[in-house]
Amino acid sequence: MNSFSAIDIIRTSDLEEKEINFFAGIHRNYYVTLLISPINSIVELCICCAALNATQNTELHAVVNMLIKGSKDTVIYDDYSVVATIELKHDWITRMHILLDNICKYLASRMIPTACPACGKEEEQLGIGDTGRGKIFLCKDCLCEMNDNILRMREEAEKNMDKMTYSIRQSKFVRNDIGRGIQGALLWSLFGLIICAVEYAVLASIVKMFFYLVTYEGNQSLTLIYVIMTITFIVCVFYGYQKYSRPD
Ligand SMILES: [Zn+2]
Repeated sequence: MNSFSAIDIIRTSDLEEKEINFFAGIHRNYYVTLLISPINSIVELCICCAALNATQNTELHAVVNMLIKGSKDTVIYDDYSVVATIELKHDWITRMHILLDNICKYLASRMIPTACPACGKEEEQLGIGDTGRGKIFLCKDCLCEMNDNILRMREEAEKNMDKMTYSIRQSKFVRNDIGRGIQGALLWSLFGLIICAVEYAVLASIVKMFFYLVTYEGNQSLTLIYVIMTITFIVCVFYGYQKYSRPD
């Protein structure tokens, strides 16, 4: 049976429910957090304490090894906290209480005070902070640092948003250029028509005369003039587009 009741935890311990599946409080002067993970079927109990030396670490393990014998529960000392991972089975609350009480008793017997689990500073009052990897108790400095980090991350996100807005503006600018390019192409197509008219007037008489003198057939030369006019028109249109679509 994996079910549990928040009321059972609150009723039987000094921990308060801070949010769904997360409890925190002070037990025997030690800051404690309890995180229930139903998906993984485990409960993580974290007792915040100052640094343990090698002897104390061995002693602590001797104490807890007796208690976790025959179960899948584990206890490790991690920098500034003792972390017990308890299997989420029907009797887990009882097992959690036994571990919590005995670990705190041992720490107190060796005069190891509670401390910030992030930096080890012994501070009387700790506050709950979200490190991104989960909620833990933190000292004033670590909470400030965490808030600074959150602020920095927010600023970074805003900067990225600004960059995105800039690239959106840029893409709009490119679209405007295409519009301007089309305007330029239309304008220059008019110039193209004028140039073509002039070309026709000038070239037609010259070329006609030339072909008439050579072949005695002036009308065939008009095909060449049409080709020249078409090329001129296309060049004008492209020139207009290029000239106006270029960024200022
Ligand atoms: Zn700290």
